[in-house]
Amino acid sequence: MTATNNVHAHEIHKFGSQAERWWDLQGEFKTLHDINPLRIDFIKQYAQLDGMRVVDVGCGGGILTECLAQNGADAFGIDLSEDLIDVADLHGLETGIQAHYQKISAEQLAEEQPESFDHVTCMEMLEHVPDPGSIIAACAKMVKPGGMVFFSTLNRKPKAYLLSIVAAEYLLKMLPKGTHDYKTFIKPSELSQSARASGLQLQGMVGIEYNPFSKQFSLGKDIDVNYIAAFKRVQ
Ligand code: SAH
Repeated sequence: MTATNNVHAHEIHKFGSQAERWWDLQGEFKTLHDINPLRIDFIKQYAQLDGMRVVDVGCGGGILTECLAQNGADAFGIDLSEDLIDVADLHGLETGIQAHYQKISAEQLAEEQPESFDHVTCMEMLEHVPDPGSIIAACAKMVKPGGMVFFSTLNRKPKAYLLSIVAAEYLLKMLPKGTHDYKTFIKPSELSQSARASGLQLQGMVGIEYNPFSKQFSLGKDIDVNYIAAFKRVQ
C-alpha cells in the first residue's frame, strides 16, 4: 500500500454523508459517544496525556480527539473525510476545545512526521480500511520510541457478528445498517502480530462490553466482540 491508496472510497463516503449528525448524542454515533469515557479511562491507565503531543488517526468528527485535548494533550486529529474534518473543526470552535485537524492519510503523516508524537490513538477505524497492517505500521512509525499506540476494533468471531451486526445494526438499531462488514473484523492475535512486526509490544487488552439490559458499556475481560489494546513502541 502507498500513502494514498489504503482507503475504501465507499467507507469515507458512508461516514462523511452522516457528518452533520456526528455530535448528536442520541444519533447514529451514540455508541461512539457512549464508549468514549471508557476509551479515555483505558488510555490514561497507560499514558500521561497532559502536555503530550497525541495524534488521533481516523478521528471522524473528533469525539476522542476533543477528549484528549480536554485531558491536556496537544491533540491532532486526522481523517480522510473532508466533511468530518470540517465537522471536527466547527465543533472545536463551538466548544472552545483546542484540537487541530487535517485531512491526510496515516501513511503520509508517518512519512512526513516520523517519531513525532508522544502517543497515537486509532479507534474503530482499522476495520474500515483495505490494509489495516499498513495503518498499524504507520502509527508505529509516527510515535516516538517509548510512546504508546492504542487501537480498538471488532473481533472476527461469530459472537461479534451476532452482537455487533445482527443485534446492534438490525435488532437494537444502535448503529446504522451497513456500518460493519464481518470479513473486515480483526482477531486480537492478528492485531498483536501486525503490531509486533511494526515494533509495537502489547501492554494490555480489554473488551468493551455491552449490557443490553442496563444499556451500559463497560470495560471487561470479554474481548470476543469489541476490544481496545495498548501497545508500546519498543525502540
Ligand atoms: N475514531 C473515531 C471515528 C471512528 S469511525 C471514533 O472512534 O470516534 C471510522 C473513521 O475512520 C471515519 O471517520 C472514517 O472517515 C475514517 N476512515 C476510514 N478509512 C480511513 C482511512 N483510510 N484513513 C483515515 N481515516 C479513515
